[in-house]
Amino acid sequence: MKTYCPECFSWGAHTHGCPAAPEVKPIHKCAVCGDGIFEGDRYKDFGDYPMCYGCLQALSPEELLEMVGDPITITKGEEQ
Ligand SMILES: [Zn+2]
Ligand SMILES: [Zn+2]
Repeated sequence: MKTYCPECFSWGAHTHGCPAAPEVKPIHKCAVCGDGIFEGDRYKDFGDYPMCYGCLQALSPEELLEMVGDPITITKGEEQ
């Protein structure tokens, strides 16, 4: 059922920035920086350890692959 909002003068959905619009709840909370991860955001869930895109970008390739559980390989001299 659509309801009328007297704050933004619209039916059903509030317009962007309407003071009466319900606060958008984050779907996850970044385990590193504590920021909310919202619908449509890119993130990576490491089991119970969700990380936001910004924190993922801050990781080095070594750290990231370590998190995924597939550590980076260091080339060794050829075994004969
Ligand atoms: Zn509204
Ligand atoms: Zn984060």
